Amino acid sequence: MCAYLDLGQHFIQNILLKTIIWIPFLTLAKHNPHTPIQERHVKGGPDCRLVHKFLKINFLHLHQMNSDSVAMTDLNGGKNKPETVCIFGTGDFGRSLGLRLLQSGYSVVYGSRDPKNSLLLPTGSKVMSHAAAACEAHVIVVAVQREHYGFLRSLALDLERKVLVDVSNNLKRGLYPESNAEYLSRLVPGATVVKAFNTISAWALQSGGLDANRQVLICGDRADAKQQVTDIAQSLGFTALDRGSLRAAAELEDLPLQLFPLWRLPLKIAICLTAFIFFYTLTRLVIYERVTTGKDIAFRIMISLANKAFPIVSLVMLSLCYLPGALAGFLQLYNGTKYRRFPDWLDRWMLCRKQLGLVALAFGFLHAIYTLVIPIRYYVRYRYNAYVISLIKDNKTYEFDNTAAWRFDSYFSMGILGFGLFVLLGITSLPSVSNSLNWREFRFVQSKLGYVTLLLCTAHTFLYGWDRFLNPQSYKWWMPPAYMLSLVVPCVVLILKLILITPCVDRKVTRIRQGWERQAKTSANGSDSKIDQRLMA
Ligand code: NAP
Repeated sequence: MCAYLDLGQHFIQNILLKTIIWIPFLTLAKHNPHTPIQERHVKGGPDCRLVHKFLKINFLHLHQMNSDSVAMTDLNGGKNKPETVCIFGTGDFGRSLGLRLLQSGYSVVYGSRDPKNSLLLPTGSKVMSHAAAACEAHVIVVAVQREHYGFLRSLALDLERKVLVDVSNNLKRGLYPESNAEYLSRLVPGATVVKAFNTISAWALQSGGLDANRQVLICGDRADAKQQVTDIAQSLGFTALDRGSLRAAAELEDLPLQLFPLWRLPLKIAICLTAFIFFYTLTRLVIYERVTTGKDIAFRIMISLANKAFPIVSLVMLSLCYLPGALAGFLQLYNGTKYRRFPDWLDRWMLCRKQLGLVALAFGFLHAIYTLVIPIRYYVRYRYNAYVISLIKDNKTYEFDNTAAWRFDSYFSMGILGFGLFVLLGITSLPSVSNSLNWREFRFVQSKLGYVTLLLCTAHTFLYGWDRFLNPQSYKWWMPPAYMLSLVVPCVVLILKLILITPCVDRKVTRIRQGWERQAKTSANGSDSKIDQRLMA
């Protein structure tokens, strides 16, 4: 009974009263100079639509308020969507965003310099002058290039207390002394500016954002305004990420100008290493042969030399993934704290470990594919047949060598296992997979299994060389075989890791990583004495 009374009271308060107040207002709006000049593909007037929506929302609200069973959750996660979003500018971005907003259930109104000639706008949207459009919505997306922001100054009164979403980017870094968003905020001080959507392309908006980056980075000085923009971004199917105050806008505007920033160092290392190993092996094998015996074996460049360079680059780069971690461990031991910053070069190196690993994996793949074709190579088949024929001619037998059988089987086995784990590391570094792992699982795979991978690949290389390092003929022009060079970095990394996991060192590193610090204290006589102090249990 009470529920029905409440329902009746709520109906009177929320529906009838609001309708009585709103209907004259909506009727007035029809004669308002801000009413749309041109309305596209909308059946029925704007007023009817507003009244209809208004009533629909209130009935839904009423129903939810009085449900004494389980609280109803609407599809939008219970968030109140703003009814209308205004977009200034009918260009590529404005059109794409408008379409996406309409698809997500928003009303879209465009503000344009020339509403009558604005073509190709999404079906269901309205277009009018900037001032009229600004009055239709609380959130206004400024999809106009920064150079043209000047017109907004004259709209200062219409934009008072509105939320202006700055989506702009620049062509170059450092083009202006202040970020576009801060400039906009200075132009229209009465409005609240939020930087958002600038990292999403018009194409990504049109294609649904599924194939492109789904993160919308947001910054602004007012939490409520940011929340409104966050709600819109989430309704469009994006993940909103708060990046702080409007001062972060410059950083957000620089993001779309970056070209593979984390891939540059790994790619440079890969190119330099490949070039070095290629010319090194070219000198040792092809040029040496030509100079000393006059034989031309330049054909070996295509597969033999390539298949020497690829595994070496792969192994060295895999070890370079783990070297900064080991160095960081030693630095922390030396500093006696984890709170001192690493040098910049180490920070940068650590940041691109994933990219280093993925490039290393790509070279590992090339090595695997090149190895598979070895048995069908003309050169290999020729040498094999020539050897068998020479045995027959000399009436010799081909003795079974048990040691060689062990060596080759172990060599291949280590290679296959190492490559298998390497692929696993690559797969778990994919965001879709790594997101499904907890921190411990991720660390287990990337750190523990990573070191096992490095160990297996290093063993694979050792088995490849076997005892050849003892053979003086291997040192052509005093140059050791390239595989020996490739073992230097992995061996250093494995030795460092071995030291770090010895119980006494490991205990100390673990304590430091838990917050323990060794503090230098100045004693009474002025000399520094280091004492241990436990900061955290
Ligand atoms: P656009 O195609 O050149 O459109 C810009 C719109 O601004 C024009 O259609 C025009 O609309 C309006 N405009 C042009 N000159 C004006 C002036 N003097 N005064 C007032 N309005 C003017 O540019 P867009 O690609 O849509 O980009 C718009 C904004 O979004 C830019 O700041 C851009 O950096 C940013 N953005 C774009 C993308 C993208 O993928 N395109 C991605 C991220 C961010 P009216 O003729 O209707 O007035």
